[in-house]
Amino acid sequence: MIRISFIAWGVMLLVWCAMRYPAMRRARRQKTRVDNRTTLDISLLTLCVFGLVVMPIAWRLDLVPDFADRTQSIGILLAGVVTGVVFLWLFRRSHKDLGRNWSVTLEVREGHQLVTGGVYAYVRHPMYASFLLWGLAQAFLIPNWIAGLAGLAAVVALYAVRQSREEAMMRQTFGAEYDAYCARTKRLVPGVF
Ligand code: SAH
Repeated sequence: MIRISFIAWGVMLLVWCAMRYPAMRRARRQKTRVDNRTTLDISLLTLCVFGLVVMPIAWRLDLVPDFADRTQSIGILLAGVVTGVVFLWLFRRSHKDLGRNWSVTLEVREGHQLVTGGVYAYVRHPMYASFLLWGLAQAFLIPNWIAGLAGLAAVVALYAVRQSREEAMMRQTFGAEYDAYCARTKRLVPGVF
């Protein structure tokens, strides 16, 4: 059961990499107009890689203390797979909807357009919502409290710092158009918060 859980986690990571890679290549060619990258932002992204990728692998290699191990059940494994599928679907949708306006850090591109359609018609941060689901899927699939929750903790930290900075940057760029968009959307869960 533990082995299957880890394989499911690995497949989820590989599918995510295959989806992200073309966007990373395309983004490198896009010119930047406003660059709000900070050391804090880059550090938090690094923390996410550590929490979401390095920690589960370290756990599998027995480098994480086993006092934090928990038992794994078929129910929790299935919850992990379902959460992982929803994560990948939402990630793909939001990437497609953002298109050329996407960037890994906080930036405004040359010719940047405010996206308010697709999944962005329902929430302002669907991609961050998908990353939170990734963290949750990892917590279900990696049966160790430390390695399992490391990804979710890192994503929560990134989101907490980014959300207000990103919204301030978008407001500065798009003004009243962004205010109107905020007035009709929630941040992460449609109609809730
Ligand atoms: N917060 C969004 C986007 C994450 S990617 C989400 O979770 O889905 C981060 C970049 O997306 C930021 O640098 C910003 O320039 C851009 N961005 C965020 N919201 C946007 C929107 N509604 N339209 C266009 N670009 C957006």
